Amino acid sequence: MNRWLAGQIFWPLTERLIGRDTMRRYRQLRASDHDAVSAITARQTAKLRRSLMLADAHSPFYRRRFRAAALDPRDPDLGLDTLARLPLLNRADVRDHLDEMTWRDCPGGPARVYSTGGSTGEPLRFYIDRCRQAADWAARWRARDWWNLRPGDREIMLWAGPSSGTTPGRLRVWRDRLLNQSVLDAFDMTAETMASYAARIRSVRPRLLYGYASSLALLARHMLKTGDTLADRQSPRAVFVTGETVTPRDSSDIQAAFGARVVIEYGSRDCGFLAGACPAGRLHVADENVIVEVLDPAGRPVGPGEVGEVVVTCLEAFASTLIRYRLGDLAQVPPEAGRQLDGRCVCGRASRQLLEVRGRLTDQIVCRDGDSIRHMHALSIIYVLREAEGLRQFRVVQDSLRDLDIEVVADDRFTPAVQAAVLRDIRQRMGPDVAVRITRRDRIAPTAAGKHACVISNVEMCRA
Ligand SMILES: [Zn+2]
Repeated sequence: MNRWLAGQIFWPLTERLIGRDTMRRYRQLRASDHDAVSAITARQTAKLRRSLMLADAHSPFYRRRFRAAALDPRDPDLGLDTLARLPLLNRADVRDHLDEMTWRDCPGGPARVYSTGGSTGEPLRFYIDRCRQAADWAARWRARDWWNLRPGDREIMLWAGPSSGTTPGRLRVWRDRLLNQSVLDAFDMTAETMASYAARIRSVRPRLLYGYASSLALLARHMLKTGDTLADRQSPRAVFVTGETVTPRDSSDIQAAFGARVVIEYGSRDCGFLAGACPAGRLHVADENVIVEVLDPAGRPVGPGEVGEVVVTCLEAFASTLIRYRLGDLAQVPPEAGRQLDGRCVCGRASRQLLEVRGRLTDQIVCRDGDSIRHMHALSIIYVLREAEGLRQFRVVQDSLRDLDIEVVADDRFTPAVQAAVLRDIRQRMGPDVAVRITRRDRIAPTAAGKHACVISNVEMCRA
């Protein structure tokens, strides 16, 4: 597809058909990309006041919180520092008060149910609206702008493949074609498929590659091992990695195989797109859409160069709005207070900056496929678990090619029928020779690796 047609006609058109005003937001974000700190603060204050007022009007849960904190969302003196008066929002708060938090006829509605929590091992359901989706896509493309990439540029994603044979799957394939995008299945990584993925990338010559960090690293190592790396003229402008922490080894292998910079995109299903890396290596928060706080254990903002917990307030999400939500990641703020040189990064942007995010780590699950070995991103298992009714927490451990053990903490809604359906789905993904077991527990103790390791594979080939 012609790049201009894809980016200027089909992208805005398909977004409009889905009900998202993404193009308008994308233009706005590009215009505010180099705003001064004072303009950023003024805009965030106005949007925060709007979010608090809407939450007050439509959510009994937040109304109670505001009363308890003696906070009046209509107070004309309300500023960004007001946030500190509100308690943090835990996953359990969202789980236990979802109905009271949710505004079903919100802007961008009706609200649609959404599952998340895969990478923390604590599934969570909440509602999202089209405003948030449009804001996410606009911010994602603004961050790609920094790498001289535009909507319509050829893109290959190493991602969960569209389910073939279904109507949404077929629509997705058509839409991808119109937009110059295509998907390689990250849940099906064998020596054979990886060779075909490398060949595909070589022939399509995408301007950008996008995918799970661990899956791209697996493909990169396969290409390095077989001497199948890309030549200079075949390299994309950048390889965008997301969804999990990228290790230094992953990063250098990806760079060596594809001949392009590895660029981190930081986001989550709960909060959407949060930040993208600029060419100077800083992660710039999409301040127009979210307020990101980095807090110490006492709930105070951490100092320059320190690491703290990421807490997010959504400014463009209205269905189950999140105010001071504990995302569960750790981030490091820049050492020089972040607000010197008028708060600007060397790239010229004054948006909130993070140096590094330490978040989720997921292993690749490994299966035997006849005589060959197949790797699947852990999300292939997580997708099944996070949709299960009544599942509060889980951990998946793979100790051998023949075994997969799943520990779960669940309530009454996790009936024998639900458990049987989960087992069936996972067995289908793992193949017939694997013994999949589910064990119910009262609690799941954190491992030495911390709570983020909710899928652990001890099969050596996973890291090969
Ligand atoms: Zn920068």
